[in-house]
This record gives sequence, C-alpha cells and structure tokens, in this order.
Amino acid sequence: MVVVMKERATDAQIDSVIARLIELGMDVHRSSGATRTVLGVVGAHKVDPGVIGLLDGVHEVLRITEPYKRASRSFKPEDTVVTLDDLRIGGDEVIIMAGPCSAETDEQVMATAAAVKRAGAKVLRGGAFKPRSSPYSFQGLGEQGLEMLRRAADAHNLKLISEVMDVSQIELIGRYCDIFQVGARNMQNFTLLRELGRVKKPVLLKRGIAATIEEWLLSSEYILAGGNPDVILCERGIRTFETATRNTLDISAIPVVKKLSHLPIIADPSHGAGRRDMVAPMARAAVAAGADGLIIEVHPDPDHALSDGAQSMFPAQFDRLMAELRTIAPAIGRSICLEPVSRRGWAR
Ligand code: PEP
Ligand code: MN
Repeated sequence: MVVVMKERATDAQIDSVIARLIELGMDVHRSSGATRTVLGVVGAHKVDPGVIGLLDGVHEVLRITEPYKRASRSFKPEDTVVTLDDLRIGGDEVIIMAGPCSAETDEQVMATAAAVKRAGAKVLRGGAFKPRSSPYSFQGLGEQGLEMLRRAADAHNLKLISEVMDVSQIELIGRYCDIFQVGARNMQNFTLLRELGRVKKPVLLKRGIAATIEEWLLSSEYILAGGNPDVILCERGIRTFETATRNTLDISAIPVVKKLSHLPIIADPSHGAGRRDMVAPMARAAVAAGADGLIIEVHPDPDHALSDGAQSMFPAQFDRLMAELRTIAPAIGRSICLEPVSRRGWAR
C-alpha cells in the first residue's frame, strides 16, 4: 500500500508512521517530494489501512493495485537513477552502451572499445557466455572472454556489462563486470533473478521474447524484493507475426514503462531490428521516445563476427549515429555524452 502524508506533516509525524509500519513487520520506502512525502509499504503481513489512516499526519492510504509493488511508480513516485561512480543511468543524460555481441579476440574487443569510447559510449558491452538458439553455434569464450572485456574496459575507462545465464556464473562474472545483463531468454529464470537480488551490482533486465510489460515488471520485482534496488529495464524487441525484422522493437513500451514504473529503461535496437541498416533509425526513435539509454552491437569486422554480425554496426556507422543522437537528445531535454571532446579521446 501507499501512505500519502499531509502536505504539512512534520518529520516527527512521518518518522512515527514509519516506525509503526516497521513494528508491524513491513518494509517502508520513503519518497519526499517538493510538497508531500509518500511512503511505499510492502510486507508479508496484512496491515489494516483504516488503522494507518488514523495516524497523525496521514492524508490517505491507497492500495497498490498493480501486481508488482516495488517496481511501481505509485510505490516510488520519483525516477530511480542507477549510479556507478560518475555514471548515472536514468538521469538527464542518455547513456550509451556499445560493443560486440561476443568477445572473440583481444584485438577485436580492444578495437571496439576504443571506437565506441571515441564516439561517446560510457559502457562496453560484450558477451562471454552466450545464449544461442542452437547448441552448435558459438557459445562464447567464458572467463577468457571476460578477461578480454575487462582489459579493454579498463584501458578505455568504460564500465562493463556482460550477460549472466545461470546462478552458477554469478560469482565469476561479478569479478569482471560492473553491470549484470539478464538476457531475454532468462527473463523468467526466477532462481537467477532471486540470486541477483542479493548482489551489489546493477542488473539490466531484458524483456522476454514473448513477455508482456506486466510480466517483465514482475520479473524486476524478484530482483528488487531480494534487496537490489538497481534494476535497469531493456526493451529488445518482441516476437510478432512480422518477419521483415528479427523482432519488433516495441517503442511504445518505453512511455508505458515510464508511466508504470520508476525504473530506468533503455532500448536495444540491434536485437530489436536484427539488421544493421535498421539499427540507427530505431535507436533514434527510442531516444526520441524517452529511453534512458541504448545498448548497441558494434564490431570492427561485422561480416566475420562469430555472433550477430548482420545486426552489428561498423564503428563509422556508430559514430555517425552518436552525432545524430547529440541533436535529438536536447530536443527532448536530455543530454548525451557531455564530456569535452578532448576527454573523449578525439584527435585535436
Ligand atoms: C545479447 O545481448 O547479445 C543477447 C543475446 O541479447 P537478447 O537476450 O536480447 O537476445
Ligand atoms: Mn547479440
């Protein structure tokens, strides 16, 4: 439930309502806005809203009607900003994550990291454990791939995101990456989600191939309820009757999620479109629709990539896309890659 305090409720009244709820075995999340404080309340116990409504300073008590609680905007009205040192995901700046689908060689990862950094990306992406539709396709280099990715991320001052497919990989991947990626195929791997609720790193949760937005938010609830508040959602395309593109990137999911939830949401136009020539238009559309960031596949030689080559951009295409995004973002009050040109590593 949500406890809305009176506009003039004092700190003492708010503290005493929180203390009472905690005494009743509830978890309380306090959101203090400019005029009012709102308390998001969840717990296994039943609390009588009538009793809470009578406490000093309480304006009204509302039930959260959505099946997800901690992920809902009524529980926490203000946007969540996931912070990693000076990186803020969900703030004013649109954050770009880019890199190869899979780590293949040191040279490939290092060259990609250099190119995406130069263009303004803040996070290096790359898989070392790959969920492939066929067991005969390239499955990723495992720890060797993680080592390559970490070296390249450190060399270019980028954060690193990499996919975790199974609970047994959390410890290993956690030693290398800054953000865990949960892939579309694992959106409902509830054991994995529960375990990621206990880690101290952000989790990027991709939307399942055939998942509704409600199911996706319920999956995020597993991570949040486990005690990890740093969840970033990622729209990566869903399966529809359309076959012209690999998936159908559901741009409308971006404003829908923004309304229903306080969590940051980014888009993956690479898996969404599945074709290199469609990635830039979908990326532009996602930023215009309010995405907090993008995750994009870039490869120095995409035609020889071991996975997802057809949808991987050439570095020069990515560079041009970034230049275009730099004009789109300000049109909707956002910024993108604010760093001075010299810090981005451009030749003067
Ligand atoms: C990936 O990011 O390379 C990937 C496998 O993504 P998805 O889970 O969206 O298919
Ligand atoms: Mn991929």
